[in-house]
Order: sequence, then structure tokens, then C-alpha cells
Amino acid sequence: MVATVNNVLISTKALSPIIRQARIGYEKLYKKEIFGFLFGRIEARDAEILRAKKYKEGTRSGVDYDIEEAHKRARICAKRFKLKFLGMYHSHVEIAGKKSWGLSPPDRKAIRDENSITELLVGVYASADWRRLPVIEYAQKRMFIYDRKYKYGYSVSAYTKQLGKARLTPIWLKW
Ligand SMILES: [Zn+2]
Repeated sequence: MVATVNNVLISTKALSPIIRQARIGYEKLYKKEIFGFLFGRIEARDAEILRAKKYKEGTRSGVDYDIEEAHKRARICAKRFKLKFLGMYHSHVEIAGKKSWGLSPPDRKAIRDENSITELLVGVYASADWRRLPVIEYAQKRMFIYDRKYKYGYSVSAYTKQLGKARLTPIWLKW
């Protein structure tokens, strides 16, 4: 049983590949969500995400995977990285101008997985005001990234469990 997490910190080493994968998935025909594992450590009451490893590509609205097989893979990666498995990340893609920043009902179910401490959601959308500054902004517990090179916006939301439920938890970039 893990104590309540107050903050989620993410390193650029973990976040950069997630953002890149989310963008590439968005640019695919029919768009695709991407799914992967998060690794790091718990420090005081903060979850620190230090590495990310892609696991699967889904459709534009979800992914099917075998939970047992996923755990087995995650354990192998955790051992290799010498880090703790913290949970999963996945992307949401903007569809017909509709941005999806929150967890879907199946997402909420998935976070009840006892092995998961945090679930990271990255929304990618093309209709962002990518010209705006600063490039990273924190608002309503979320992190927003404006990508001036590819002209996308990303919303990064972290959920942690509280009394078995997914709770939006402040996320910060760890320099
Ligand atoms: Zn989702």
C-alpha cells in the first residue's frame, strides 16, 4: 500500500520521448494513441518519473492489452533501469477539434490496477495557440506544452490513487 502522493515530478528524459511518440501517433492515418510504462521512485510524498518505455500503439480511442503480459514486460524494464514501476502513460488525440484532457471510464478502471501508482495522460492537439509563450505553462494541476516546431499543444495530466480512485495530482517538470 502506497501513501498518498502529493506531487508528480517528471524528468525531461522521460517526458521528451512521450511527447514525441504522442505526436507521431497523432500524425498517423486515423490517429493512434500510444501506451507505455513509467519508471522512477517515490521520494517523500512525490512520485518521480525518471524513465518512460513505449509498450503499444492503440487506435484513436483506446488500446487492448493483456494486463499480465504488460506487468511481466514492465517488471523486466524496471529491473533493467534499476527503477520502480510507477504506472502507465497514454496519449489522447484531438478528434474533429475535440480535445480530451481527462480520463475516460476505461482509463479510470485501469488505474485501479494495484501495481499502478500514477497514470499519465498526454493530450495532443493541433488547434493550440502554439505561438504563445512561455513554452511550458502550469494550470489547474496540469502542465501545458506548446510546440513551436511542430505546431502542436500538449496537455500533461497525472492521476494518482486516493482511496482507490483516480485523482488529478499536480505535475511538474523536474530539471
Ligand atoms: Zn484514455
